[in-house]
Amino acid sequence: MSKIATDFGIHDALKALGIKDVNEGTSTGSNHFSSGDIISSYSPVDGSLIAKVKTTTKEDYEKVMSTATTTFKEWRTKPAPLRGEIVRQFGDKLRELKEPLGKLVSYEMGKSYQEGLGEVQEMIDICDFAVGLSRQLHGLTMHSERPGHRMYEQYHSLGVVGIISAFNFPVAVWAWNTALAWICGDVCVWKPSEKTPLCGIACQNIAAAVMKANNLPEGISCLINGDYKIGELMTHDKRIPLVSATGSIRMGKIVAQAVAARLGKSLLELGGNNAIIVTPDADLKMTVIGAVFGAVGTAGQRCTSTRRLIIHESMYYKVKEAVVAAYKQLRIGNPLDENNHVGPLIDTDAVAQYKMALEKVVKEGGKLIVEGGVLDGAGYESGCYVKPAIAEAKNDFEIVQHETFAPVLYLLKYSGDVENAIAIQNGVVQGLSSAIMTNNLREAEHFLSAWGSDCGIANVNIGTSGAEIGGAFGGEKETGGGRESGSDAWKVYMRRQTNTINYTTELPLAQGIKFDL
Ligand code: NAD
Repeated sequence: MSKIATDFGIHDALKALGIKDVNEGTSTGSNHFSSGDIISSYSPVDGSLIAKVKTTTKEDYEKVMSTATTTFKEWRTKPAPLRGEIVRQFGDKLRELKEPLGKLVSYEMGKSYQEGLGEVQEMIDICDFAVGLSRQLHGLTMHSERPGHRMYEQYHSLGVVGIISAFNFPVAVWAWNTALAWICGDVCVWKPSEKTPLCGIACQNIAAAVMKANNLPEGISCLINGDYKIGELMTHDKRIPLVSATGSIRMGKIVAQAVAARLGKSLLELGGNNAIIVTPDADLKMTVIGAVFGAVGTAGQRCTSTRRLIIHESMYYKVKEAVVAAYKQLRIGNPLDENNHVGPLIDTDAVAQYKMALEKVVKEGGKLIVEGGVLDGAGYESGCYVKPAIAEAKNDFEIVQHETFAPVLYLLKYSGDVENAIAIQNGVVQGLSSAIMTNNLREAEHFLSAWGSDCGIANVNIGTSGAEIGGAFGGEKETGGGRESGSDAWKVYMRRQTNTINYTTELPLAQGIKFDL
């Protein structure tokens, strides 16, 4: 174990979460069976090997699916509030293990410990939300056009929900899906990112302990591990009516086509290219905080990270100076150390993408005003630490149109009315998160109107990054159109049925059609 791991209590955290040197990456609950190749999980924090995980083979996958489909038939018969009670206990277990799990998230993924804790808090929050929801899975009643008839709709459990998640939210995205799916009476099979397999094992251990304590059968929570090939087993599997996939647009296009080819449902949470519009009426201090946290938080590896600042020409110089000055204060280093603001990127491939973006923006005519660069030497041995960079650019540059998953912020200038800024903001293929900084009511309402931001999330005087679980989360256009978490996102995990009951002795047809025998 490395010095950082010892100094920051990683060993104890792994122990508390049941992580061993070599872990089974296939599990239906208490039963573990993996016979595939081994994935080694290295920390981007210091480059050390944390532990190994055995991957899922096709045969292992069949065992998982057989258990999941059998258990679904039992789980769906439990009353929804009882399922909610299990989710409540799961939330309590997360409260108990918040620190070790937050630490593992930080060490395996590289985000700050505070953000790791925040991610576990999101899991707890969605559990609380789901518990309340378990008593509110309601449909509507409608008035029938036929006399003596009653019409209503109800929501039934869907089946096995497949979850494919990205490395950057290695635990929360699973919980957003699974807490809702469980109260809806579904069972879940989860394939976490191959870059963060230990987070998956830790979560599965926690869920399995809760199920076991309640004498519930295996198969309510299932884990499979491996790369895209294991994910493909799910996308092509007719036994999985819903695949919830979080990741890049490239991945989403493949997953959507595979699931659609068998007429399954997919819930897609894909890449963003998020912008903050800064109008002449913006509060400068709030703008700088929102923009800097949005651009460098999680080292620019959030789907909601701020990638573009669209600044009115009258404010341009002032905002640029203030943001550049703020970047000078940033401390980059070990994310477990609370003195640092920016941790590492996930791996050296991500570093290569970052370097390519900086070269490309210059080649396309942009100007680096905070140069960036890869850090080396003591504390940066993993090769994954980079300096957040800022470039002056144009929205139609190819690189600006593309989501680079790293701390690179593009400054774009607009003139005239807010409509011009909104046109720039909407002028990308992605549609996840957007924000406007203004104290002008007209501009704010314009931004929020039907002819304003085209994103799934539109904020006023808040940055683009992060969201509360109470609202539905997701984006439009190539971000995939899916919605998870709050509001009525639960409906995607259920099947809707319309029921019409005739309590007369006649059989009238709808639309007044006569069919006399
Ligand atoms: P990625 O697309 O490389 O991988 C995501 C997951 O998809 C992994 O588990 C991977 O194994 C799996 N996968 C890849 N190809 C597959 C295929 N053909 N079939 C089935 N599964 C497949 O993404 P990443 O690098 O892990 O994460 C970063 C991306 O995720 C960014 O684009 C980010 O914006 C996006 N993201 C979006 C949201 C959101 O809610 N919109 C949240 C987090 C991350």
